[in-house]
Amino acid sequence: MEPTALFKYNLSYWERETFFKPIDVAIIGSGLVGLAAAIQMKTLKPQLNITVIERGPLPIGASTRNAGFACFGSMTELLDDLSRMREDEVLALVEKRWRGLQRLRALVGDENLEFKQLGGYEMFTEEEEDIFIRCKEHIPDFNRKIGAITGHREVYKTVDERLPAFGFRSVHHLILNQPEGQVHTGKMMAALLRMAEEKGVRILNGIQIERLEDSAQGVELETAYGWTIRVPKVLIAVNGFAKRLLTGADITPARNQVLITKPVPGLKVEGCFHYDRGYFYFRNIDGRILLGGGRHLAIDEERTDEFGTTELIRSALVQLLNTVICPEQKPEVDSWWSGILGLGPVKKPIVETVSPNVVVSVRLSGMGLAIGTLVGQEGAEMLLQ
Ligand SMILES: Cc1cc2nc3c(=O)[nH]c(=O)nc-3n(C[C@H](O)[C@H](O)[C@H](O)COP(=O)(O)OP(=O)(O)OC[C@H]3O[C@@H](n4cnc5c(N)ncnc54)[C@H](O)[C@@H]3O)c2cc1C
Repeated sequence: MEPTALFKYNLSYWERETFFKPIDVAIIGSGLVGLAAAIQMKTLKPQLNITVIERGPLPIGASTRNAGFACFGSMTELLDDLSRMREDEVLALVEKRWRGLQRLRALVGDENLEFKQLGGYEMFTEEEEDIFIRCKEHIPDFNRKIGAITGHREVYKTVDERLPAFGFRSVHHLILNQPEGQVHTGKMMAALLRMAEEKGVRILNGIQIERLEDSAQGVELETAYGWTIRVPKVLIAVNGFAKRLLTGADITPARNQVLITKPVPGLKVEGCFHYDRGYFYFRNIDGRILLGGGRHLAIDEERTDEFGTTELIRSALVQLLNTVICPEQKPEVDSWWSGILGLGPVKKPIVETVSPNVVVSVRLSGMGLAIGTLVGQEGAEMLLQ
């Protein structure tokens, strides 16, 4: 991550007094978590002066760059989790994601999110027959247990009969998770920024925090421009970039590369899809395909918080697009981008007090849309205690 500031300078008296005072709480990072935290703080204590400090002209981590899957668990992922975690822990994770999604929908509103419950599908090739059969056997049990969480009687079902309508090639089976949906990521973030500003939160862009030091006098934040500010309390919501500020944090950045096609005439794909146990994912948006993943093909290289795309992953994504997803149309790629996830040894976010005046809300893993609102709100409440 290159410093945002290309030059150093001092704040003038006017700048310091007008734009950096008064601040009761500074939130570092204006992604989903930082904004949900800011809105929660203003809701609980409207008198507080909350300032969000963001290094980018827009949020530039994962929240404006993700795939917009409103998902809480595909079967291969849950079975994999069950091989390493206790069943109650796996169900608690599902419950947290489900509850988090409802919290996001209540906060932002389905219309602002453009939330569509089109379902989440898991695809299985001929070589994956064994794993498909294993998943199929678990459907009744999962439906009972996850149905109790979501209130849906039939969460998972096989829907192989839908395959011809989607137009895929070399896909033999489909399992549908019915209550899953998709959101318009850009509109979600625009709505959250609007809500925060309407509540009186100040958002300052283009300021990268390089270091922070907590003391009895408050927290000193040093910016990439060289000047510092001192604030009473800080919430760190920088997810995959957390190691830059908290050297001991148990967080690994993970880059995810994404493409979007040009509009595809006669596109039949509708919904969110997981391929190769979720290592690849794609969905429809505005008559196009958004496709991402492939990090497992270069796991070490992708363990980075630098943006960018690589030839290896770009060609894997294009091949999947042309041979499996849209083999008839072979759509043209419109553009590429990448985003940065924050991963850990366990699928559990970190929401904790790291020093008397500093709380962190980070490590959202791959389902940050589902848990981001909760993680932000929990961090806000912890800081205000
Ligand atoms: C390509 C991709 C696809 C994804 N798809 C999905 C999906 O479909 N469904 C799902 O649920 N989840 C998905 N995720 C995960 C989800 O997007 C994230 O978990 C979630 O957005 C994390 O939100 P956040 O606010 O914690 O972090 P971020 O959105 O990364 O926000 C952190 C912010 O902190 C800022 N920042 C960092 N360091 C500093 C600093 N030193 N000073 C000032 N500002 C700083 C960054 O610029 C950034 O804006 C995806 C992620 C990626 C990358």
